[in-house]
Amino acid sequence: MAGYTPMIQQYLTVKADYQDAFLFFRLGDFYEMFFDDAIKASQELEITLTSREGGSEDRIPMCGVPYHSAPNYIEQLISKGYKVAICEQMEDKKQTKGMVRREVVQLITPGTVMDGKSLTDKENNYIASISCFEDHTFGFAYTDISTGESKVTQLSSNFDEVLNEIAVLSSKEVVVASDFDAELQKKMRERDVLAISFEDNSSIEMKFSHLLENLNQDKLKQSTARLLNYLYRSQKRSLDHLQPVTTYQIHQYMKIDYYSKRNLELTETIRSKGKKGSLLWLLDETMTAMGGRMLKTWIDRPLLSRKEIEKRQTIVEVLMNKYFERQELREKLTEVYDLERLAGRVAFGNVNARDLVQLKRSLMQIPFLKQILQGMQHEEVNKIAESLDPCEEITDLLEQAIVENPPISIKEGNIIRDGYNAKLDQYRDASRNGKTWIAQLEREEREKTGIKSLKVGYNRVFGYYIEVTRANLHHLQEGQYERKQTLSNAERFITPELKEKEALILQAEENGGELEYNLFTEIREIVKEHIPRLQAAAKAVSELDVLQCFAQVSEERRYVKPKFTTEGKVVLKEGRHPVVEKVLNAQEYVPNDCYMDNEREVLLITGPNMSGKSTYMRQIALTAILAQIGCFVPADEAELPIFDQVFTRIGAADDLISGQSTFMVEMLEARNALTNATQNSLILFDEIGRGTSTYDGMALAQSIIEYIHKHIGAKTLFSTHYHELTVLDEELEKLKNIHVSAIEHNGKLVFLHKIKDGPTDKSYGIHVAQLAELPRELIDRANEILSALEKPNVQQASVKTEEKKIKEQPAQLSFFDEPKESKKQELSSKEKRVLDKMKEIDLLDITPLQAINLLYELQKKL
Ligand code: ADP
Repeated sequence: MAGYTPMIQQYLTVKADYQDAFLFFRLGDFYEMFFDDAIKASQELEITLTSREGGSEDRIPMCGVPYHSAPNYIEQLISKGYKVAICEQMEDKKQTKGMVRREVVQLITPGTVMDGKSLTDKENNYIASISCFEDHTFGFAYTDISTGESKVTQLSSNFDEVLNEIAVLSSKEVVVASDFDAELQKKMRERDVLAISFEDNSSIEMKFSHLLENLNQDKLKQSTARLLNYLYRSQKRSLDHLQPVTTYQIHQYMKIDYYSKRNLELTETIRSKGKKGSLLWLLDETMTAMGGRMLKTWIDRPLLSRKEIEKRQTIVEVLMNKYFERQELREKLTEVYDLERLAGRVAFGNVNARDLVQLKRSLMQIPFLKQILQGMQHEEVNKIAESLDPCEEITDLLEQAIVENPPISIKEGNIIRDGYNAKLDQYRDASRNGKTWIAQLEREEREKTGIKSLKVGYNRVFGYYIEVTRANLHHLQEGQYERKQTLSNAERFITPELKEKEALILQAEENGGELEYNLFTEIREIVKEHIPRLQAAAKAVSELDVLQCFAQVSEERRYVKPKFTTEGKVVLKEGRHPVVEKVLNAQEYVPNDCYMDNEREVLLITGPNMSGKSTYMRQIALTAILAQIGCFVPADEAELPIFDQVFTRIGAADDLISGQSTFMVEMLEARNALTNATQNSLILFDEIGRGTSTYDGMALAQSIIEYIHKHIGAKTLFSTHYHELTVLDEELEKLKNIHVSAIEHNGKLVFLHKIKDGPTDKSYGIHVAQLAELPRELIDRANEILSALEKPNVQQASVKTEEKKIKEQPAQLSFFDEPKESKKQELSSKEKRVLDKMKEIDLLDITPLQAINLLYELQKKL
């Protein structure tokens, strides 16, 4: 280190504390990176790698980005999972001798981004922490640092639960102790965690102990403390907006595991990984960013409490029936900015006056929202109206203090309204009076000298001056003004009086500017004290937004309010798949009924490929989820139980990405369902067992169905193309066959997408191949092979019970025919002669004795 220049030494000292981050080292107008950081950054950001002298023998690799475009580059690094430490100059270069002091002012990580593109308006950015306890259970805490929301829970020793939570929250960064199991870290990375950060301090520090007051267990406190210690250590800024941490239980919500969430495309589609085409996309009629985030959270966590669900339903129903009021609500909601994140930025101290005006305008919508809601005259809706706090103190303050269109900069004045502060008014008066005096001076001097073009101007270097063009100089008397500056075609002058006024004006402006800045920060501090209220208001507005969104979608798409039953009945009349229905033309969509109860628990669905089996199954699950988030559902009539969990195994295109074979994934998902499902769960198995050989697959499929039927009793939809399985309804009394109908028309298959009772009679695989326009020759050959296979006596693979075997006797007897046939080919000529002789016998023409003699003779011939 000794050999390096002082600047590089300073760099290395700072860098030592930020080994795992890119250090953006501020040098004038650039952030520079050195050594390995520079090499890596130049590759990642595609910027030029240079080098500089640093005191050592070799030149030091270096690359840099202009500070004004840094956010863009930081963004790129963060989205790749890197961290960036911002190291600023802490002193003014002009006022210091020698090295300027530099410090890291912020560590930006994937989980702590506060602004920029990484922060999508309608998504939370959660950073999570995991603590592993002696009894092998896990503590799980999370925070969205931009909104200040924090929660914690305790999970079992099954790490899948942790992975599930990470997936539900889409956490990009997870904080753990440095000795956290490497294998588990790997698993987290497989679930799209970009950064794993380490924090060994899990002690409760004074500065945040108040946030933990709600927590009554040490374990929960410890888990949260790890996260908070990391945030305070890395963020180096006020975190005053963090809300008290609350606990939650995963059992409070319908459990939908990671795979099922993906399969059902709740918040993103499998193929594009985008929102479009997902349930969230269909539902998102929210008008605010906060509402959008809450909607996503609600979809991720459907409720189990009937009371809570029905509370939401009641409001949705009222809003649904009040079309005009709802449109008015929607209009007002669009005027509400992101209160939650504004509150976060108030705490961080990086709001400007424009943000505060936005805050005010947003809060000013609240009285209107209240009024509209109260006008609906409904008890539950009134409760929401009451919960909306307009935070008048803040709006009044901001209204009185801040002008309507302030500049972005908070240091150049023009922020505070006249009349807000007497001292500021005085300064402004002084400055304005001075300026009026100057304007008057121009007029007076023109008259006095007779020079029409005489003018009074201002520049930063010389201050106020009187300017006279060269051609008019002769009108001035000697010594009338004091000469100050000579231009090519004019002279500039000053007078003692002018300078006096100028001093007054400038002083007033400087004082005014300073005072304005102080007043602004004061106002910001006052707003800061109200952060909890702002957050509560934000929450209430978000809820209202989601509920109006449900009403809007439900009305537009003709959804109905589902009834909840305790008898495990599922009744859907004319049900539809919400997303497919939207994507397809409404006339093209074929609605379907579904009926299940405790005597009709397992529905075995057969039907050709592409006929709509998996659409039907997904439709049931999505309907249940919609019902349990409090929304109405796509059907003409709906009755549902409250499902505790939903499991799906629906073949997905990208199963291979996790490095496991499709079949293994299939079995893992099946195991997950079979071990965790209860009789209150919903299971969807689509074509399970397809990933292995036919008999294997069929055997597994059958035994899975039997297992569910016998041990679990969950409502189950099982689609299969093994129609051999359809005979199971004879043994399993709660299993019923249904099928998707299709008809053949002119040798082609026409899908009707209509679900009917009973098994399908035929597999239409070849027809689908034909639809896909495989070569004609190949189709013909497949038909040939099929008819050969379909000849009688091809053994059915389904294993029957004893009783069944007896019933099947006649079919089995047919096997004895076969050897006889084959023997015929091996007959010797002697035997043939005997046979021929036998055929010639006219049985009506011989006596029994003759017959015996004949038989005797024939036998001798053999
Ligand atoms: P399967 O699971 O039987 O192979 P899918 O459920 O994937 O079939 O459906 C195949 C296609 O049929 C879907 O992409 C969808 O466009 C269409 N479809 C499915 N169900 C319906 C329906 N009820 N009405 C209209 N079209 C449907």
